[in-house]
Amino acid sequence: MEKVVIIGGGPAGRLVVHALHKSNQEFDVTLIKDEEINANRCAVPYGISDKNPIETFCISNSLVTDFGAKLVLDTVESIDKDGQSVTTVTGKEFGYDHLVVATGSQPFIPPIPNIDLNNIVNVRSKSDMEKMRGFAKQYKKCVIVGGGYIGIEVAVVMKELGIEVAVVEMQPHILLMTMDDDFAETIETHIIDKGVKVINNTQVTAFEGPNGNVSGVVLDNGKVLPADFVIVSVGVKPNISLAGKTGIATSRFGIVTNDHMETNIKNIYTAGDCAEKKSFVTGNPSMGEFGTNAVFMSKVIAANILGKKTTFPGIINANASSAFEYTFGSAGLIAKAAEREGLDFVVGESEVMDMYPMMDKMSMIKTKLVFDKSSRKLIGGSVLRRGHCSAGNVDFMSFAIQMGATIDDILIYQYATHPELAAKPSDNTYMFAAQDALTKIS
Ligand SMILES: Cc1cc2nc3c(=O)[nH]c(=O)nc-3n(C[C@H](O)[C@H](O)[C@H](O)COP(=O)(O)OP(=O)(O)OC[C@H]3O[C@@H](n4cnc5c(N)ncnc54)[C@H](O)[C@@H]3O)c2cc1C
Repeated sequence: MEKVVIIGGGPAGRLVVHALHKSNQEFDVTLIKDEEINANRCAVPYGISDKNPIETFCISNSLVTDFGAKLVLDTVESIDKDGQSVTTVTGKEFGYDHLVVATGSQPFIPPIPNIDLNNIVNVRSKSDMEKMRGFAKQYKKCVIVGGGYIGIEVAVVMKELGIEVAVVEMQPHILLMTMDDDFAETIETHIIDKGVKVINNTQVTAFEGPNGNVSGVVLDNGKVLPADFVIVSVGVKPNISLAGKTGIATSRFGIVTNDHMETNIKNIYTAGDCAEKKSFVTGNPSMGEFGTNAVFMSKVIAANILGKKTTFPGIINANASSAFEYTFGSAGLIAKAAEREGLDFVVGESEVMDMYPMMDKMSMIKTKLVFDKSSRKLIGGSVLRRGHCSAGNVDFMSFAIQMGATIDDILIYQYATHPELAAKPSDNTYMFAAQDALTKIS
């Protein structure tokens, strides 16, 4: 029986286990992971509240063992690519026919003086979640360094728990990695209205804490924000050192792969946060640390191990998040990213009611669709709305991008309407945005 060894127990590693288990072929699968219990990373911000036990926000190890794989709690220290085996720090050796490197990423720790003080935490693991739970019960003042979607999700939960929250962001607005400025500004104004302090265009230069616990956050304008605890959420870096020392090619984006998710070393695959990803739209290496990308790449690996030569078309980075009453998200290239890539594009915009006008809970949806001018194909989009449906909007845009939908396709696409569940028949948000794009390019 062919042996498959998987390094890493995050979504990328687990998905390979599940896909092989679903097939009608038999493999001897071993998954080696160094975190005894993996947090469900996407849920970590919501695990800060103690309404539910911490285990609810973690992934059970039975999601490996119930799917026919052996689970080894250990850290892989080296890969022998010629002998096709891996060795762990405790000296265990595992031979493989196929090796999947799914080592994920780790929080980027900015080189800020005193960042190792007590009560400064990242947003990633079960122990981070436990610490944040404890801080929220014990303390009153929190500073969050980094206004990306994770920092904002934490800010909202902390505020709802009655904590005084300040977010420090070096960009002109929060959320600029995933949203265009105007949408980001609306969300920013909303969270400020809800009582979160937002300090943009500002860098943290040091942490103060004469007694070993953080007590202040020093800003580049000389001001000091008082803090009982600090959350640092300024991005991640791929875990590529194991691959690098094995001679597996890496870049600043991660472990280099071909379209089949194979590395430059025979029988070694990679997926998820540790892997370099190429953009579906441009074909260029691009950032994309999302669970959805990890899972998609791993499906390709499993298919290739199963002998169905499958290619990975690139990442669309479909993402969604929420902040108090707003939900929002994007897919493909937002307008700013299309501009950065030097593309010739047009942005169609719309603002429509999300229900029929007579319904009590009606509110507005804003949509932007980004089209390539010459092919008229959708290459990106973003959405901002009140209420809890933005993921569905993002999914539509992501699928339309993947299927190569053009302005003309979206103008005639067929959709459902219902007084409580959708806009009135004439007012579809994507159709209006496509119409706006058409007007702009004609
Ligand atoms: C707070 C937070 C919220 C998020 N929210 C979302 C969201 O809403 N939507 C979304 O799509 N994505 C979200 N993400 C991103 C998503 O969680 C990641 O993209 C995803 O976890 C990547 O999966 P992975 O398997 O590649 O890596 P990981 O989940 O990082 O798993 C890799 C595992 O490998 C282990 N490992 C590393 N080296 C070794 C070794 N040598 N030996 C053994 N084990 C090793 C690591 O410890 C880790 O447990 C969020 C991330 C965070 C942190």
